[in-house]
Amino acid sequence: MATHKSHFSIFATVPSLGEYTAMCKSLCIHNHCSDIYNYLPMSFNYESLVLACDIDDTLVPVSDRSPEERAMGLAALSDLLIGLEEIRIGFNEQVRFGSVTGRSLASHQEYEMQEPAFGTVANAMDFSVTSVGSEAYIRSPEGPQRITDWPNVARWDAFALREGLPMLPGITLQGEEGQGDYKVSFMVEGKDHDHEAIIAWVSQHLISIGVTASVIFSGGYLDILPPDVDKGAGLLHVIGKLGLLHEPFIVGAGDSMNDKHLLQAASRAGGLALLPGNAHPALVSWAQRTIPPHRRYMAKRPFAAGVREGVDWALNQ
Ligand SMILES: [Mg+2]
Repeated sequence: MATHKSHFSIFATVPSLGEYTAMCKSLCIHNHCSDIYNYLPMSFNYESLVLACDIDDTLVPVSDRSPEERAMGLAALSDLLIGLEEIRIGFNEQVRFGSVTGRSLASHQEYEMQEPAFGTVANAMDFSVTSVGSEAYIRSPEGPQRITDWPNVARWDAFALREGLPMLPGITLQGEEGQGDYKVSFMVEGKDHDHEAIIAWVSQHLISIGVTASVIFSGGYLDILPPDVDKGAGLLHVIGKLGLLHEPFIVGAGDSMNDKHLLQAASRAGGLALLPGNAHPALVSWAQRTIPPHRRYMAKRPFAAGVREGVDWALNQ
């Protein structure tokens, strides 16, 4: 893995804030997307790095992948760890690595036991953001410590949501293992889902029953979280607890639609949205429409090999 170019900037002149604002207005296809950092050209001038990865089909191929894909994906995990060690040395240990997943902590830990290669990777993690961003943990050899001030939510009646939503046709409540303190999760019937339409439909229902919430839908799973709670917000909260001495360059890696907030958070913070080569077409299309080209990287290689490829690319900019 290449050594990063610390304190190196390729830009001789820096446009004024006004010029950037004009650039934002001309480039942005969404009115709410006005973040200046999103449009700053990438240059590698950071003294710390955060690598935040989704697990299923980003770090580790899911179980219904072919045996060949599974074997290749698992083998790539050790390469990623070797690369991370090299980067840690290059950054004087100012590197943090962790998971940002839809899994609960219990499911994360179960998977660590079940899949030893993933267990080894998890042992190298500094943090885990679980349950689609609604829980966050700092990891240490003593075990994961929950960050108790996340999410900061005044009112959240998970029970009422569990009871209230199954009345919608085609939606069924997941089992207890899929539920969290701040996450209510359902299964949605059907295969060819229109993500935006389902989110709009459920959001409309929530408004009609007086509930403000984040609605996240991906791969048949529908998650309802407190407002402004998602993978990206959870990650940004946990980064503040990581003891980094400098504002980090954030790489957010994910493969499916429930990773879009993770990718968006990394991109908007001036980092990189990283999609492995196997990323779902819906996420690829969303990223192409939403994330500026210099803030996203579509890896050629799949799974952890794609993550390593993207980190290498970023550090060489
Ligand atoms: Mg995934």
